[in-house]
Amino acid sequence: MRYCDLHTHSTASDGTTPPAELPALARRAGLSAVALTDHDTTAGLVQCAHACEEQGVQFVPGIEVSADPGPAPPPPETAEDDVAHDAEQRRGTLHILGLFIRHDDSQIAQVEQRMRDARDSRNPAIVDKLNELGVDISYDDVLDLARRQGAAIIGRPHIAQVMLDRGHVATLREAFERYIGQNGIAYVRRDRLPARDAISAIHHAGGLAIMAHPIQTGLSDPGQLEQLVVQLKDLGLNGIETRHSDHSPHLAEQYELIASQLNMLTSGGSDFHGDRKDVMLGGQRVPLEVYERLHNAWQKRDT
Ligand SMILES: [Zn+2]
Ligand SMILES: [Zn+2]
Repeated sequence: MRYCDLHTHSTASDGTTPPAELPALARRAGLSAVALTDHDTTAGLVQCAHACEEQGVQFVPGIEVSADPGPAPPPPETAEDDVAHDAEQRRGTLHILGLFIRHDDSQIAQVEQRMRDARDSRNPAIVDKLNELGVDISYDDVLDLARRQGAAIIGRPHIAQVMLDRGHVATLREAFERYIGQNGIAYVRRDRLPARDAISAIHHAGGLAIMAHPIQTGLSDPGQLEQLVVQLKDLGLNGIETRHSDHSPHLAEQYELIASQLNMLTSGGSDFHGDRKDVMLGGQRVPLEVYERLHNAWQKRDT
């Protein structure tokens, strides 16, 4: 059996493995194909492509774009949920993977710039909030740390690491749960890209647009999720990531069913972040066939 991993991160975003080192790890993990899908950046793709060639691993140049999931749908009638009226609260995360993209596409570059601008204003706002709460860290410390790690993108993981280094929390998890995660007291929502723009930029770059980890949309009702997928399909979404480290086998099956009912592609990957997350490269044991089907669809695409 041959395997692939179509969702990974490097130091170009918030992973800890340099893009040039990922392919050797992939080969050691027994993978025949690997995608690099850093958050909102293509900065690692050229290096990773070269190293893949050296290692004899098929490379899928990719990106993972953070998009706006739109307003939360009304809850299913059976749900008795007190906070259901708070649509803002109930909106989860919508990440869209672009697979087989051109790394130097002009629309992708615009997306990268928009996301950078949004992040640049958000991170200092989080640090300000932390300061108000008596968590004494400076934004310069965060920048320093990110620079030392060679990160192209500065994000909450770096803020969490500084909080940990300064002894404000005992673990990175605590930093997220208590302070900077979605339910934390220093959370700041980021301006997000409309899904339409994310999908059209991916298509402009010649890629396939795949909904990443559907579980993170927070839509546990399959009907609601399907509704969102249908909306996104109308905008050009090509497929769904069914296998992911956050998905149980049961969920993966549920997502496979939605994809086949809607005649859409499926993808799978670990969402490897190096040492940052407890997730193994290739850990999802995604059969190489999944890569092959995507590759075929990409070659035949009409966009
Ligand atoms: Zn994601
Ligand atoms: Zn990811």
